[in-house]
Amino acid sequence: MPITFNLRHLEEDSLQLVGEMPPAELELETMDELIKATHPLVYDLEVQTLDNAILVRGRVELNLDCECVRCLKPFSFPIELPEWACHLPMEGDDKVPVVNDCVDLTPHIREDIVLAFPQHPLCKPDCSGLAKTQNKPENGPGAAAKPESSSSAWSALDKLKL
Ligand SMILES: [Zn+2]
Repeated sequence: MPITFNLRHLEEDSLQLVGEMPPAELELETMDELIKATHPLVYDLEVQTLDNAILVRGRVELNLDCECVRCLKPFSFPIELPEWACHLPMEGDDKVPVVNDCVDLTPHIREDIVLAFPQHPLCKPDCSGLAKTQNKPENGPGAAAKPESSSSAWSALDKLKL
């Protein structure tokens, strides 16, 4: 079910829209292979008339399943729009389409959800990727030759000479 409301229900009072929308309704699947929308979109919206327009305000949330661009690890990326708002004109050139007295909010929500997508999905901001996690000598024979320890060894020698 897309997120719609009936204009006739709005004539006397504001409307509350609370629910979940299956990710398929958002049609986000083909946008980016590293980002997948598999969880429902959760919404809690208030709809009211405002002069010759409709104002929709509320909270929109969607948890994305992402893959890190550096290390390919899967992770979850929550999109939270706690103060989402949408102004829908009821007349003029930008008039919102009305079908059987109903207005579909889905395209407006989709637009802002897409804007909140991560540009380069990373499992953590400083992810070092795949390469650095291999061949790291910890206590091997090479460990004593680290730059810091050799320099301190030389400064210790200098002290001995004095
Ligand atoms: Zn990563």
